[in-house]
Amino acid sequence: MFATRFAPSPTGRLHKGHAFSALTAWTAARQAGGRFLLRIEDNDPTRCKPEYEAAIFEDLAWLGLDWETPVRRQSEHLADYAAVIDALGARGLLYRCFRTRKDILDAIGDAPHGPADAVRPGPHAPDEEARLLAEGRPYAWRLSLDRARETLGESEWKALSFVEQGVGPDGETGVIRARPDTAGDVVLARKDAGTAYHLAVTHDDALQEITHVIRGLDLFEAAHIQRLIQALMGWPAPVYRHHRLLTGPDGRRYAKRDQSVTLAELRAAGLTPEVLRAELGF
Ligand code: GLU
Repeated sequence: MFATRFAPSPTGRLHKGHAFSALTAWTAARQAGGRFLLRIEDNDPTRCKPEYEAAIFEDLAWLGLDWETPVRRQSEHLADYAAVIDALGARGLLYRCFRTRKDILDAIGDAPHGPADAVRPGPHAPDEEARLLAEGRPYAWRLSLDRARETLGESEWKALSFVEQGVGPDGETGVIRARPDTAGDVVLARKDAGTAYHLAVTHDDALQEITHVIRGLDLFEAAHIQRLIQALMGWPAPVYRHHRLLTGPDGRRYAKRDQSVTLAELRAAGLTPEVLRAELGF
C-alpha cells in the first residue's frame, strides 16, 4: 500500500518550505488512498529541542494535515540504530573515525585529488586506533565504500539504481543509476549520537514500509547513498519523488538557518491555512 512520510528534524520552527513539503506528501497519500506518517527525526541531541517538536505538531495541525499515530520519535529508538551499526560492523563494512571536523577540513587542503579524498579518510592505522581507543577518545562509525563495493560485488554495485518520479537538479528522472561514491565514506553513527541521518532515515523508511519518499530536492543526492545502505541491509527500495524547493520573495529558498519567516509568525500576523494552501497550490 502506498505510504509516504514527512520527516522533519525539530531543530527550528517550520517555514513555508516545510508547509509545501508536508502538503505535497500528504496530498499524494490522500490521492493514492494511502498512508501518511509524520516522523520526528530528533537524533541530533545538540540541535533538537522539545519546543520545536511541539511546534511541528501545532503547525501541521493548523495547516489541516492529519497523520497516523503513534508518531515515531527517533530518539526513543536508538537501540534499533545501534543494532544496525552492530550488524554492518560485524560484516566489516564500517570503520572507526576519531578525526574531528577540523582534521577533515585540514586534510581537504592537503589532499592531492581534492575534497573527495577528504570525506573518505579511511581507517586509522591499527596501533593508532588502539591508542585512541585506550585513551577513551570518542569516535564515529563511517561506512567504507570500498568494503561496500566488495560486499555487493561488481555487477550489483553497477546495477544499483533507484526510481525518481520527480526531477533531479540535472534533469534526472525515471530509473537513475545510484552513485554512492560521490557521498564519500559517510558517517553512520556520530560521536555524540550513536546514529546519524542516513542510517536512521533508511532504517525507519524500511521499518515503516514507506513506498514513496517525497521530500525536497535538497535531499536528492542523499538518495544515492541511501540506496546503497538499503542494498547492504536487504531493505526494499522506495520510489523517490523529490519536489522543487520553494523560494521566498527574494528568490532564495526557505531555510531554517536564514531565519525564514516561520509559520507561527505568519499565523500570528493573521494568515489563514486556506490562504496559505492556495498560495502553495493546494
Ligand atoms: N529529517 C530530514 C530533514 O529535516 C529529512 C529526512 C528525509 O525526508 O529524508 O531535513
